[in-house]
Amino acid sequence: MLHQFFSQEKAIEVLFLIAFPYLLFTAVAFCAFYLWQSRKYWYMKIQRYWPKKRHIAREIMLSLLTMVIFIAVILLINWAGNRGYTRVYPKISDKGYVYFVFSIILMLVVQDTYFYWIHRFMHWKPVFKLVHKAHHLSTNPTPFAAYAFHPAEALLQIAIIPIIAFTIPYHLFAISTFSICSLLVNILVSHMGFEFLPKGFTSHKYFKWLNPSTHHNMHHSLPKCNYSLYLNIWDRLMKTNHPDYEETFERVVNERDEARLAKTKETGIAKKNQQTKIGAPGMPYRAKL
Ligand SMILES: [Zn+2]
Ligand SMILES: [Zn+2]
Repeated sequence: MLHQFFSQEKAIEVLFLIAFPYLLFTAVAFCAFYLWQSRKYWYMKIQRYWPKKRHIAREIMLSLLTMVIFIAVILLINWAGNRGYTRVYPKISDKGYVYFVFSIILMLVVQDTYFYWIHRFMHWKPVFKLVHKAHHLSTNPTPFAAYAFHPAEALLQIAIIPIIAFTIPYHLFAISTFSICSLLVNILVSHMGFEFLPKGFTSHKYFKWLNPSTHHNMHHSLPKCNYSLYLNIWDRLMKTNHPDYEETFERVVNERDEARLAKTKETGIAKKNQQTKIGAPGMPYRAKL
């Protein structure tokens, strides 16, 4: 029955396109920051404790289910595209490179708006328990939380692809680039759990319109605020940023910078002690997952 809609080769291609980047980016981010180099990067952790193993396992299991749903929807859109139902166009030169770049930016902006409003909808009490609570079980998210959705939320999230495919003229490479950008931000910013940006970012004239990692991390620990995705436009317009959003960001960054300074000093003392053969002081705390 299913082979009437798409070939086995197409299914494998989509599986590779969806699953491979997700598994690669989450595995690299998680292994680097939560396992192999966890002591080295601990000072940048937004919430100063490690998530429990059972939460990480739940995030991974839900992510696998989400990928199945995403793959099914993308195969259907591909089937519709092959029959001329979507607005896909075959050659980049058909609309030019300027439009090609513009279409990617447009997709990100459309998704940013779509996400904010479905997110507000999912926080509506009757919907929250059924649809969005599964994602919020991660109060201290890891990169695997990026796809940790209830199946109903997974469908709502992937609905951005048909919305784009049926309304915006797109090249396959543009929609793939958009998907990779979206995935990267979702993993490395929204759900990373580490803050990399400098102080003053959230009060800067221009940068304040972009969301740092702390923004969505706060949403996971204090759910009734900070709903936006990439841009801090809708949260500002609708006054849904947490009242202490900027102060919290500054506190996180100050604590990080102080911890980095202390770490540098400690390393310096350790090196000096090693040279004088006194012996290195104890290593910084390494939390167990
Ligand atoms: Zn989240
Ligand atoms: Zn939420």
